[in-house]
Amino acid sequence: MELAERVDRIAESQTLKMSRLGNELKAKGLDVISLSLGEPDFDTPKSIREAAKKAIDEGYTHYTPVPGYKELREAICHKLKRDNGLDYAPDQIVASTGAKHSLINTIMTVVNPGDEVIVPTPYWVTYTAQVEFVKGKVVNVQGKAENDYKITAAQLEEAITPKTKLFMFSSPCNPSGSVYTKEELESLKAVFEKYPQVLIISDEIYEYINYTGKHESIAQFDSLKDRIILVNGLSKGYAMTGWRLGFVAAPLPIAKAMTKIQGQFTSATCSITQRAGIYAFNADLDDTKEMVKEFRKRRDHILEVAREIPGIKVHEPQGAFYIFPDVSAYFGKFFADDIINNADDLCMYLLQKGLVATVTGNAFGEPNCIRISYATSIAKIDEGMSRIKEALAKLK
Ligand code: PLP
Repeated sequence: MELAERVDRIAESQTLKMSRLGNELKAKGLDVISLSLGEPDFDTPKSIREAAKKAIDEGYTHYTPVPGYKELREAICHKLKRDNGLDYAPDQIVASTGAKHSLINTIMTVVNPGDEVIVPTPYWVTYTAQVEFVKGKVVNVQGKAENDYKITAAQLEEAITPKTKLFMFSSPCNPSGSVYTKEELESLKAVFEKYPQVLIISDEIYEYINYTGKHESIAQFDSLKDRIILVNGLSKGYAMTGWRLGFVAAPLPIAKAMTKIQGQFTSATCSITQRAGIYAFNADLDDTKEMVKEFRKRRDHILEVAREIPGIKVHEPQGAFYIFPDVSAYFGKFFADDIINNADDLCMYLLQKGLVATVTGNAFGEPNCIRISYATSIAKIDEGMSRIKEALAKLK
C-alpha cells in the first residue's frame, strides 16, 4: 500500500518504542523493570477525579468552544498570575489535548517549509519530529555536559540566521532535568532582543517538578512577551497524563490562528477533562507538592545509587524525573561477540540482557547518554539500577 510521503518524515517516538519493546518482553513472561517512563506513577488527586465525576453528572458532555470553556481559560489565566506573575487574557489561551498537541499546533501556526527552528540539545524527542513534519529545518545547538546540558547566550547567537523563525526549549528539561536560572534566561533574552523575528516556545510542562525552589519562565521578560508561546498542561504536575489537557498562552494573533487550525483537526479537548482542569487550576497545589517531595527523595536516592556504578557520569538534575548519565565509557565494549557501539546498542543490551528499559540519548540528540526515569517506586528503582550495574559489569 502506498502511504503519503509525510509518514516517512516522522519517526516512531523512541520513548514510546522502548515502552512497547519492554511490554513485548513482559507479554512473553519476562520480568522487565521499566525505567523508561515519562509519566508520574501517582494517581490523579482525588479532588480532581471528583470534579470530573461531577461534570459528567451535571451534563458537561457536549462540544465546547474550540480553545476551551471560557472558565477554563480564566482558570489558566489565574494560574499564570498566581504561579508565574504573568498577565494573560482568556483570549490568549488555547487549551488542547496535551502539551504535545499545543506544540504541533504552534509549529503548524508559525513555521513555513524551510524556516529554521533552533532546538537546543538534549531536547525532547517530539520537538524535532514535529518541526520536520512541517518541513521546517531543525538547527541544533549543543548544551554541553560541562554547562549542565544548557546552552549559552553566545551559542544561541551563533545559531541565529535571517531564516530563524523559532526557538523551542523546555525548562525543566526532558531528558536532562536541567533548569535554566533567571540569570541564564536573562542572558538568552539579551540575544533575542537583537533578533525580533525569532519566536520562542517555552515548554514549561515540568514547571512544578523543580527542586530549585522556584520556577523561572522566560515569559517574565516584558521585552519578549509579544513573541513567546508558553506551553504547559496538567500531565506531569497533576499526574494527569491520560486526561489530555495542555494549553498555550500566546500573543493574540497566534492564539487566534491556532484556534482556527485546531478547529479543523481535533476541536476542543474533552469537556470532562476541561471541567476537571477548571477545578485543578483554581485549587491549591498541596497534592502536587506532596508528589514533588516524593520525586525529590527518589532523585536523591537514584543519584546515590547511580554514582556507585563504575564508568557512568551523572550530573544532578534540578527538575523533571529523569537522570541522564553519560555512559560512553561502555562504548566499544563487548558482551560475548556483540559489540556495544553506542547508546542505542547499550539500551537494547540493558533491555534484552538486563531486563530493564531505559531510553537512548540518541533520541534526545545526545549520543553519549541514556535517560533513566525515576517516576517509579524506590523498590523498582533499586531493582532496575542493580540490574543495570550487573549488566554493565558483564561488558568487557
Ligand atoms: N513537553 C515535554 C518536555 C514532555 O516531556 C512531554 C511529555 O513527555 C510533553 C511536553 C507532553 O505533555 P502532554 O502529556 O501534555 O502532551
